[in-house]
Amino acid sequence: MTALIRRFVECESPSDNPAAVNRFVELVSDTVAPFAAVRTHRGGSFGKHLACAMRLPGRKKSGRVLVLGHSDTVWSLGTLRAMPFRRVDGRLYGPGVYDMKAGIAFFLFAVRALRELDIPVSSHVLLQLNSDEEVGSESSRALTERHAKQSQAVLVLEPGTGRTGKLKTARKGVGGFTVVVRGRASHAGLDYEAGASAVVELAHQITRIAGLSDLDRGITVNPGLISGGTRCNVVAAEASAEIDIRVRRQRDVIALEKKFRALRPIDKRCSIEISGGLNRPPMERSAGTVRLFRTARKLAAELGIDLEESNSGGGSDGNFTAALGVPTLDGLGAVGEGAHAIHENILINRMADRAALLAKLLAAV
Ligand SMILES: [Zn+2]
Repeated sequence: MTALIRRFVECESPSDNPAAVNRFVELVSDTVAPFAAVRTHRGGSFGKHLACAMRLPGRKKSGRVLVLGHSDTVWSLGTLRAMPFRRVDGRLYGPGVYDMKAGIAFFLFAVRALRELDIPVSSHVLLQLNSDEEVGSESSRALTERHAKQSQAVLVLEPGTGRTGKLKTARKGVGGFTVVVRGRASHAGLDYEAGASAVVELAHQITRIAGLSDLDRGITVNPGLISGGTRCNVVAAEASAEIDIRVRRQRDVIALEKKFRALRPIDKRCSIEISGGLNRPPMERSAGTVRLFRTARKLAAELGIDLEESNSGGGSDGNFTAALGVPTLDGLGAVGEGAHAIHENILINRMADRAALLAKLLAAV
């Protein structure tokens, strides 16, 4: 398993480099080809999306289980030089090892185990790997939703939560707004009063915007990026901010969007333009997802693992499938830490039970 993970990690696949992602997609295709019917789908300006119909034991199959993952990573090409694949103190390190190349490897070993032990699987199993998950899944979303609608359950190979690898039964919805303020430029010394400062106006707006957070309801609004002005001695004609929003419930989305659209300038000589909205709907903890989790918990207990559930502030492609009402269980991939961070790593002694849990789940749902 370590050897396969190493091959996956050493085949770098940043979202913004379709040729590199396609090399990784080809590597996975070659690995699954002996036991799957492989198809690729065009990803526009991104790499190809991969869909593999797995050939698993069991005669009469009905329904389908969609297994979701992504082939892209946040690490640019050449990261391996500074952050090589390595094995230290019971952990594997390297770009994308945790998010989420190990998860893909676990699934392939689960499939291998089911085949070698001839354990019947009652559903058709489709593995889908998207090439653009780390950058918003714009080109893969429709494919994910189409496959999800034809499935009775979705299993997501994203990493688990925390040191124990809790599964994810809820995820926040993720979106963003851009606020552009336009004022009136003038010389800060010669003609100060003729100016209407977009920077000052934006500063007022930002305190209003930050005030839209409601932690009790699971709503966070983060003005993460600001820019504006041209020079220190000019009253700024333009300023803008980019704001990250997270919501736990779909019904909070409309109210929040309304509040953004209702922002009006304090200095009437300025104007405000708002664009953006929700990118990923929240994955709410539905009854169907809870049932899936209970099944997983029971199966994990058979492996001596006390499996817990968690909710996440981050989004995944599971948000799209859950929002369609399809029971979705996320976080079935690696146990480790440091997603998107230089110390990204996975625990070696949790690789076998995660692969085994996937195999058991495939046989059970
Ligand atoms: Zn991921």
